Amino acid sequence: MISLSRPEQSEAADSPIEVMLEYWLGYSMPSPERVRHESAWSPDTRDDYCSRCGVTIGPGEASASGCGSCRGKPGIADGILRLGAYTDDLRNWIINVKYHQWAEMGAVLGRELGRLVIDHRIVLDTELSKVIVVPMPMPWQRRIYRGIDHARLIAEGAAKVFNAPVLSMLCKRNGTPQVTLPRSQRKRNGSQGLRLHSYGKLIPGGRWIRGSVILLVDDVCTTGATLRAGVRLLRTLKPERIIATVVAVSDDPARRSTVKYQPR
Ligand SMILES: [Zn+2]
Repeated sequence: MISLSRPEQSEAADSPIEVMLEYWLGYSMPSPERVRHESAWSPDTRDDYCSRCGVTIGPGEASASGCGSCRGKPGIADGILRLGAYTDDLRNWIINVKYHQWAEMGAVLGRELGRLVIDHRIVLDTELSKVIVVPMPMPWQRRIYRGIDHARLIAEGAAKVFNAPVLSMLCKRNGTPQVTLPRSQRKRNGSQGLRLHSYGKLIPGGRWIRGSVILLVDDVCTTGATLRAGVRLLRTLKPERIIATVVAVSDDPARRSTVKYQPR
């Protein structure tokens, strides 16, 4: 495995000065294809996680009604698809896409996500003409500060796989980033400042939002609060289905200690 410069760095450790120094001193990221090729990581199968809430599950834990974490509660959207758990290589890649502007890796992960949508028959061939890809939004102030809209990049990578339009149908007011909050507060903060952009019913590519299949794309799902808030808004446009499509799911510490993480 290729070692990135600071693979174990925490998200909170990224100060603006560090980010700027790295940018101006010519810090560069390795080729994502090479990193991907040399990593032992591989995408999850449908048996590795709950299709209602996305958490990592043990053998036989989930049924059609969900897993130990979500049974009896509303699922996230009409299902969730993920590339993997938010650990090890996948976690490092996401952190570097998000905080070190590793755009190429964002596109690679997006394409993997798109391929998985087809391989796992989340969207059937007959439905491809109805797909609309919607990234979870980032406040414009944060986009300028970070220099990258990672969810949009991932969404564009995924959309290329089935030639679907990417529409920023949601927007977000600047506020406390979810990543800085403890899990308990993320649930309350999830919908804050989120709203729907006004789009016509007929969108580019001649597709209709009513009756469409929306893939709502984000990098990491932690509590699902932000995705749920986005789904609630998008439902008012009457799509046929909304699938939460995320690169990784961060399991809560209690689950991490009970479910054995397999090296991938
Ligand atoms: Zn579940």
